[in-house]
Amino acid sequence: MKEIIKLSDVVVDYYRNGNTVRAVAGVDLTLNSGEILGLVGESGCGKSTLGKAIVGILQPSQGEITFDGQVVKKLTRGQRPSHFRNLQMIFQDPYGSLNPRRKIGVQIADGLLVAGMSKKNALAKAEDLLEKVGLPRAAISRFPHQFSGGQRQRISIARALAASPTAIIADEPISALDTSSQAQVANLLVKLVEEFKMGMIFVSHDLSIVRRISDRVAVMYLGKIVEIGTVDQIWNNPSHPYTKALISAIPHADGNSFMPKDLPGDVPNPLSPPTGCRFHPRCQLAKPDCRISEPRLVRLSDNRDVACVLQNAGTSPNSISLD
Ligand code: SF4
Repeated sequence: MKEIIKLSDVVVDYYRNGNTVRAVAGVDLTLNSGEILGLVGESGCGKSTLGKAIVGILQPSQGEITFDGQVVKKLTRGQRPSHFRNLQMIFQDPYGSLNPRRKIGVQIADGLLVAGMSKKNALAKAEDLLEKVGLPRAAISRFPHQFSGGQRQRISIARALAASPTAIIADEPISALDTSSQAQVANLLVKLVEEFKMGMIFVSHDLSIVRRISDRVAVMYLGKIVEIGTVDQIWNNPSHPYTKALISAIPHADGNSFMPKDLPGDVPNPLSPPTGCRFHPRCQLAKPDCRISEPRLVRLSDNRDVACVLQNAGTSPNSISLD
């Protein structure tokens, strides 16, 4: 598999009421072609901010993002349009990302027209793309309000595909949809990643969907990646106490979802993150050292990185009951 996206120590700051908030606090991550990487974490952990930095909507304050072998911040003005065509983003709100006054065929064709395709060919390709995402070709001449939420998200996906991207960042793409549309759109994304041989970062707080569609999963907490692994590694043998708590919070098929008692309190304010390990105020396995030194991601095995002193010391938190 070819590496498409590489993040090295990426930091994203934003400014609020005169204060600097470090939303992303030094992230290393890779995405390979043909792969779906799930990016999970509680609300406010920085995952959407990270997605926006990857596609260039936000500028990293530090660190480096490489896309298709090129360092993004070193792209020339002439190289940037093709970069942005090759790296597309799908947003949570499909209605907000479509212009309500323009027919959807024209909106899908926009990127093709910019790339120099004739209007006739661009509209024909838009019809093909509508078919690919499960909508009738005749839908080309309708307006966004004439579709359901799930259909509008399919239109957003068709528009992203129009540029034949190398990678897509999908930011909570199904969370605004009803339950049946969620499954359909998630399945559609899996099929298209395979068919178009793209890579996709799937940002979501819905762990059940992430488990079903992802190849690898990165767990984010307060601006940091605390664990990365394959789906099987993360679900069958979570190594970071936060990952373990998240997994335990997945609603069960019998409907008896439960709040994990091993994850007390809320995510701390990113304006003043805890010292040492950012998770220590909520971690029932925290040791005195955890308040002082910040653990780095350590390679445990192939595809498996964890940031926790217990792993560094060779002690698995799984061997200690959190109940
Ligand atoms: Fe818990 Fe310490 Fe590991 Fe952080 S480093 S997750 S506080 S045990």
